[in-house]
Amino acid sequence: MMKKMKKPAHKSDMVKVFAVSSDKVYAYDGRTGRIMAVSDSLVRPTLEETKQAVYAYLREKHHLPDKPLAGVIWEHSFEEYMAYIKTHIPTLLLQLTCRCNLDCDYCVYSGNYAHMMPHANADMPFDTIRRSIDFFAQHNADSGQIMVDLYGGEVLMCMERLQYAVTYARERMKGRQLSFRFTSNGVLLGRDAAQWLKKNPDVRVNVTLNGPFHDLHRKMLSGQGSLERIMTNLRMIRAEFPEVWENQIRFLSNIARPENLQALAEFFHSELQRAPDIVTHIRQQDGNEKIDAILRGEETQDRRFDPGRAYLASFDPVLEGYFGNRMRAIHNRILYRKNDPGIIGSCFPIMDKLFVHYDGQFGLCETACDKLILGDLDNGFDEEKLRELYERSRELYNRTCANCWAQRRCTVCFKDILKPDGSVMDSVPESFCRASKADTLQSLRIYAEIAERYPEKQEEFTTNG
Ligand code: SF4
Ligand code: SF4
Repeated sequence: MMKKMKKPAHKSDMVKVFAVSSDKVYAYDGRTGRIMAVSDSLVRPTLEETKQAVYAYLREKHHLPDKPLAGVIWEHSFEEYMAYIKTHIPTLLLQLTCRCNLDCDYCVYSGNYAHMMPHANADMPFDTIRRSIDFFAQHNADSGQIMVDLYGGEVLMCMERLQYAVTYARERMKGRQLSFRFTSNGVLLGRDAAQWLKKNPDVRVNVTLNGPFHDLHRKMLSGQGSLERIMTNLRMIRAEFPEVWENQIRFLSNIARPENLQALAEFFHSELQRAPDIVTHIRQQDGNEKIDAILRGEETQDRRFDPGRAYLASFDPVLEGYFGNRMRAIHNRILYRKNDPGIIGSCFPIMDKLFVHYDGQFGLCETACDKLILGDLDNGFDEEKLRELYERSRELYNRTCANCWAQRRCTVCFKDILKPDGSVMDSVPESFCRASKADTLQSLRIYAEIAERYPEKQEEFTTNG
């Protein structure tokens, strides 16, 4: 019997051809990261015919990739990685409490996600706060700017712990470029908290605000929506503590579907005259049917709303919170030679931050599977575990991503490849790859259109790295 052979990647699989609204056509080379404007002479009546003409042209010029990426690598060897995290950790993220005064449907601690334990009645002991900060101070000597990030549950439910963490970290890391941030649902962000923020201008707070969708899923324990309580606090801070309002409050928004951006933008313009700093999607992975229902987005107001088109039409600051980082990432991308290997863009544990659970165990991050333990305050990093994760994930990405045109733009993150029990998956979930490729394609289209029509806007995406 003939053995069934796995279909090799087609030569053109690494080149993505796409059209923008002006009908101009572009080709993105997934090996090099180059975006090429396609000459009008190659444009045919349908996109499929145009693709074939582009591939034929590139083949003739010997530019059509005849193989996938030459493997996919981490930028650092395991030994370099271990050396790095001993002196370079930029951020300490402390789970100060597992308690919360809200009961948000899509919270990772709601019990609606298989990878996380629900909220519990537990706070981080003061001694654990101190030891975490000591451990951080011993592992960040070569980081320039460092940050202590306080997380919950709801951090303002344990104000003394928040104040202790800030005071002790300042003492312990005197002379360092240190800043603080905490995340709050805003319900307890009243006068006392605002007074304290005013006295501590190096502390910023991220407040989650979902505008017209807020009360659907962010409810008090009584079942009542929380928006009005939060807005009352925010109006008070804007009136009485203008510096805190301007410099220390940041907004995050979570959306179920991109179409919800329209109503979100209207809310921020009319109610706050500010834009959210970051807009993220509600997590799908590991969610139950309740999460699926939220993501189907029954609340969506207008499914015909196209956020990409709206962004191009207005560069609305609210939409900037959603598209801005994507555009900056494309504009400032590294260009590769055609035989360079792929680089795993995914984060790797502890390089960006050290997350300490309330009980002193090291985790991946606040939203990643809580069964993955990477060490603890008593024993330090679990090097064996980290090596296993390094090897397994490298093998997985190498097998999955070398044939993928989106490899150099993909936002896969380490938490995306974890099973609910904390082990590494055998393959990246197809649903993730589908969404990542669609997102990459949309961003490339918008970017190409900006370059074509708004070159002055394109320049705004330049960063100094
Ligand atoms: S406020 Fe934050 S921690 Fe509390 S339930 Fe909502 S999402 Fe979870
Ligand atoms: S979309 Fe999937 S296959 Fe492609 S690079 Fe991302 S994780 Fe890998």
